[in-house]
Amino acid sequence: MTQSQIGLIGLGTMGAMLALNIAEKGFPIAVWNRTVSVTHGFKAEAGALADKVTPCETLADLVAAIKPPRAIILMVPAGQAVDDMITDLRPLMAADDLIIDAGNALFHDTDRRAAEAAEKGPHFLGIGVSGGEEGARHGPAIMGGGLRADWDRVAPILNAIAAKYKGEPCAAYMGPAGAGHFVKAVHNGIEYADMQMIAEVYGVMRDGLGMQAAEIADVFKAWNQGPLQSYLIEISGEVSAATDTHTGKPMLDMILDRAGQKGTGRWTVIEAQHLAATIPAIEAAVMARNLSSRLEDRLAGEAVFGTAPQAGANVTLAQLEQAMIAGKILCYAQGFALISAASNAFDWPMPLPEIARVWREGCIIRSSMLNDMATALTEDATRNLMLAPFFADHLKASHGALRQVIAAGALSGLPLPALASGLAWFDMMRTGRSTANMIQAQRDFFGAHGFERVDGIDDKHGPWAGHGI
Ligand code: NDP
Repeated sequence: MTQSQIGLIGLGTMGAMLALNIAEKGFPIAVWNRTVSVTHGFKAEAGALADKVTPCETLADLVAAIKPPRAIILMVPAGQAVDDMITDLRPLMAADDLIIDAGNALFHDTDRRAAEAAEKGPHFLGIGVSGGEEGARHGPAIMGGGLRADWDRVAPILNAIAAKYKGEPCAAYMGPAGAGHFVKAVHNGIEYADMQMIAEVYGVMRDGLGMQAAEIADVFKAWNQGPLQSYLIEISGEVSAATDTHTGKPMLDMILDRAGQKGTGRWTVIEAQHLAATIPAIEAAVMARNLSSRLEDRLAGEAVFGTAPQAGANVTLAQLEQAMIAGKILCYAQGFALISAASNAFDWPMPLPEIARVWREGCIIRSSMLNDMATALTEDATRNLMLAPFFADHLKASHGALRQVIAAGALSGLPLPALASGLAWFDMMRTGRSTANMIQAQRDFFGAHGFERVDGIDDKHGPWAGHGI
């Protein structure tokens, strides 16, 4: 029997598709699933790829089926399941074998597992995989973290299965230990914000302009031909155009407005707070998802205050498009600044241009703008993305429309948290003389915390000394 070149554990939505992708690229693969019938079902349904698949009923069989030094991908739920699988595999594998966690792990867990691997073996890589089921089958974006040599060992397989942007694989080594999963978390945070901003402009069209789902679909389809070209705008057009088979009504109108989440957006926000990185568009998007799930609270609010008078928003579709462009640039600028902050804080030299390149295809946030971001970050990765001439020009042309949309939203009672927080961030980022002098004065008044003066005079306290509590 041909020995498999790699193994995979967890034939769920992502694992099954990833295994078929690996087999299709010519790599014989051994597979194991907790529920044995799933393993055999997978082989039975693998069609022409079945001869590349070795189904294994035990972990010992799985390890034995793979050519040493072995590599085994875990595609199981993040958390305890990953730790349990590592514990079960460790006694069966050699010290120079490799376990690859390809789920959505919290990067702190990946750091811990990498440290344990260094002590007890086998080797460990944490890779972030994006693209959903379709991406896993035909080409995801892959963000790797761990030892460079371990990445290099499996890079031929990962590059082969990854999405391609003009022939270049959307897979890259991001840095040590949890760096790959950190980048994946930020990807998901940006995804939350991008989705939320789209939902916000959808709300302006639906409630502020009284447009029907089919008309909104046409707008998204038109936008997808311009600077906003992206997977998320494309699918927003498709879902807006879809008809419910039960009622014949627009599908969107029949979907309850309570959004789910698995926590990666929240992790991004928590980590940004630890790093003092400013990502308000992502924070607003996570807040909006949390609030969306509190349907009873929202209904109680509506019962007391009534709905805001939403119709007749004073905006044009052209302004909405420009507002989305500005919001998107600001959101990505925040996301990349967060990665930069982590790079410095954890001493992970994360390759920002490479990250933009990896995100150009395969992942959920893929968009034409990411190619321009890769170019801007290649010119200067230390500069905030919004200051890169290409994006600064875009922002100069579009922030007026963003302002108009937010003002119209406020006057019409249309909530636009991600777009509005992006604009507030932009205005703070271009204000040389902020209002934090007032904060400093207050802090000195009540807590004698002291301040720096603008004129350099060495006097850290105001004339209110002794007035504090
Ligand atoms: P699924 O729920 O579809 O599949 C989970 C798989 O893990 C199944 O094979 C299941 O086996 C197995 N499993 C569950 N619990 C355990 C356990 N305790 N021990 C061993 N095996 C277990 O999940 P997904 O494929 O959607 O997700 C897998 C990972 O990929 C997650 O970390 C997820 O966050 C991540 N991910 C998911 C994406 C998506 O779009 N779905 C995108 C990117 C990443 P059994 O058949 O026995 O239940």
